[in-house]
Amino acid sequence: MTETVLPPDEALIAGRWRTGSGAPTEVVDPATGRLLTTLHGASPEDVDAAARGASRAAADPAWRDLAPHLRARYLHRIAELIDANADRLSAIQTADTGKTRTETRALAASAAGTFRYAAALLETAEDALTPSRGAYVTVTTHEPIGVVGAIAPWNSPIASDAQKIAPALAAGNGVLLKPADWTPLTSLALGRLITDSGLPEGLVSVLPGRGSVVGDAIVKHPLVGKVTFTGGTNTGRTVAHAAAEKLIPVSLELGGKSPTVVLEDADVEQALAGVMYGIFSSSGQSCIAGSRLFVARAIYDEFVGELVERTRKLRVGPGTDAATQVAPMVHHRHRDQVAAYVDLAREEGARVLCGGAVPEGEQYTEGAYYLPTVLDGLPADARTCQEEIFGPVLVCLPFDDEEDLVRQANSTVYGLACGIWTRDLARAWRLAQRIEAGTVWINTYKQFSSSTPFTGWKESGLGSEKGRDWLRGYQRQKSLYLGTDPAPLPWAS
Ligand code: NAD
Repeated sequence: MTETVLPPDEALIAGRWRTGSGAPTEVVDPATGRLLTTLHGASPEDVDAAARGASRAAADPAWRDLAPHLRARYLHRIAELIDANADRLSAIQTADTGKTRTETRALAASAAGTFRYAAALLETAEDALTPSRGAYVTVTTHEPIGVVGAIAPWNSPIASDAQKIAPALAAGNGVLLKPADWTPLTSLALGRLITDSGLPEGLVSVLPGRGSVVGDAIVKHPLVGKVTFTGGTNTGRTVAHAAAEKLIPVSLELGGKSPTVVLEDADVEQALAGVMYGIFSSSGQSCIAGSRLFVARAIYDEFVGELVERTRKLRVGPGTDAATQVAPMVHHRHRDQVAAYVDLAREEGARVLCGGAVPEGEQYTEGAYYLPTVLDGLPADARTCQEEIFGPVLVCLPFDDEEDLVRQANSTVYGLACGIWTRDLARAWRLAQRIEAGTVWINTYKQFSSSTPFTGWKESGLGSEKGRDWLRGYQRQKSLYLGTDPAPLPWAS
């Protein structure tokens, strides 16, 4: 494995790399419990310096007046640097989050793709000449907002960072990136590459630290004109309140409790592989994890029995082992929260069909491991079936008919994603219309394309990311009227 070169104890603040003046945080490798580094977070004063720097850089004609195809070059350069450093970024992210190298390599590639897609959007965006109703020409255009606050979660740092920085820069803004408290290292490594790309100084700052201090200071800073947030629903609500006070736009990508549905006629092999990938990849730490499984009652026992057999055989281990399928949780504290949810499920009367414990064996004692777990025997309104666990925990429920399925599947506050497994595409299509979710996968799961919008319904989010209109969320619309009649307006004469 390539040696992991951890970023030093520094943050990127207004174009300068220096130690943050906030509190120190310990960054731990969740596979071993080993201290990776101690990092000083930013302080509210650092946030202020970064916001001023980003505002200055965004307003500088060197950036503000740059033609789209020239601005796009910076995004391409960042993408090239990510590709050239993909192995190192993957190693850092595996050390920081515990994820498998296969996954962190894919996340780095996806981040590069995001910068390229944002560059393509920038080069092809068009403004509209609108139908005029008088002696004037009307044009509607889009301008940058200024400074964007980007607040990211810990589960897929480089991909979520790119999904915020790339469209914000393409749209002409400066960015203040706040990585999650537990996983700042990949974002700082990405910050180094952004510095190396030659992007105007100060345009992007990377500000690690506590959410309640650094995140809060970013959202409330007077120069921040938009917030893009990905994280838990409760934190999202706090951020939205603060944004509402300032009357600034906010986009929120929040939690989920997504249903996967197996109909009687599903291809069982395909459905088993899809259901297991949907919940146990990323150790279930995915907003779109298919964490509630609904199986037609006629095939319930057989399907769930086979699922449990296969789940028992999943290989649990460190992210650095190429054979690992289920890597450790991001942090020991998070592992303990997941374990507490399984205890709650037991109290609620669940049957633990497999897992439900930390794995046994010396190789697991120091890491934040938890066995992939399958539960059943609970009603759809049990807390275990309603609340986001964000770990490798699947709860199975039978359904009788379509009405019963739709009622149960839609019975949570979330509406992020859904998977449907069946050979009957007409039925899948009909069901997909009735499920309250921003994304529905039919006979596939957890697939993504930058060109396809991603939206959370209900308490899973506000606004959309990706797709053709992505940059518009980072811009302000302006309409221009250009008079064509040299005569004075009649009222004044
Ligand atoms: P979190 O809500 O605890 O933290 C998210 C970010 O917000 C972190 O950077 C944190 O430091 C910051 N923060 C915390 N308090 C803040 C405050 N008062 N003001 C401003 N910022 C603050 O979430 P997490 O535990 O890091 O991530 C897991 C959650 O993220 C899950 O609920 C998951 O579903 C969600 N998520 C959603 C998506 C999506 O696209 N819908 C993607 C990934 C993760």
